[in-house]
Amino acid sequence: MTISRNSHLMDGIALSKHLRHDIARRAAALTAHDITPGLAVILVGDNPASQVYVRNKVKACADTGLHSVLEKYPDSMGEAELLARIEALNHDASIHGILVQLPLPAHIDAHKVLEAISPAKDVDGFHVANAGALMVGQPGFWPCTPYGCMKLLESINYELKGKHAVVIGRSNIVGKPVALMLLQKNATVTVCHSATANLKAMTLQADVVVVAVGKRNVLTADMVKPGAVVIDVGMNRNLEGKLCGDVDFTGVREVAGFITPVPGGVGPMTITMLLVNTLEAAERLAHAKAAS
Ligand code: NAP
Repeated sequence: MTISRNSHLMDGIALSKHLRHDIARRAAALTAHDITPGLAVILVGDNPASQVYVRNKVKACADTGLHSVLEKYPDSMGEAELLARIEALNHDASIHGILVQLPLPAHIDAHKVLEAISPAKDVDGFHVANAGALMVGQPGFWPCTPYGCMKLLESINYELKGKHAVVIGRSNIVGKPVALMLLQKNATVTVCHSATANLKAMTLQADVVVVAVGKRNVLTADMVKPGAVVIDVGMNRNLEGKLCGDVDFTGVREVAGFITPVPGGVGPMTITMLLVNTLEAAERLAHAKAAS
């Protein structure tokens, strides 16, 4: 049975545009007080996808009046050298956020690197201190992609209280944090993964499905409750080489109430929430200075 032949699109580009307008306004207000929010982006190696991501992040900073520094290092960079750069940025007053683009080359321990970033500058929200803050409901930096998913839900005034949310995927950067965020908003949350016995039985009960797997067509129309909200985090290439998500968009949009497209859904929101976190890092510092 279908209740909506074409679900409403949750447009991440339009929402980002709206949010970035506000970011630019707040950044200008800080700059007028001699604090320009600053982001340092570190890229090690020449992964082509990573190069595109860091370029987009730096451009988004420029577009919204944030200062940014892009540090590119060869694949041969040693772990100690990278840790030393992070330590220097931790003490750099012009930098409020530090982002190390993942993946790192195999000889570098990514966990060790992420833990070296000061939690106050960890605008990716990957430091254990920020993951812990999310876990216990304390202020901290939320990871950008799940934070973007929550903003998309907020943009349609979706009341999560009492709803059943099913998250597919349990990574530290998307699945687990988005599950905690949904829980914090009083949804009842089920987290599914590669060992889930009957995924369809789970998703058919869901009012909200967040899919963060990295495989095409993980969620098809027969797995979705009519009217459900579907958020597609996945980024894959289809057989024609075009960017696509984890959701069979054409089929699922016939059943879902709301759905995010790929591209143009969660992707732009990830960068927008990075800008928000960087801005907030600078604002927190400004408030702390004003209070001292
Ligand atoms: P990940 O670390 O590889 O995690 C994938 C998760 O999916 C794992 O928990 C895995 O389960 C689960 N899984 C794999 N196959 C499954 C199946 N058949 N059924 C149910 N669950 C399954 O990936 P990630 O970093 O979370 O990223 C997920 C996707 O989101 C990727 O396509 C990535 O490119 C995309 N992404 C997009 C953005 C954005 O800005 N739009 C940002 C981040 C990530 P196990 O734990 O059991 O292995």
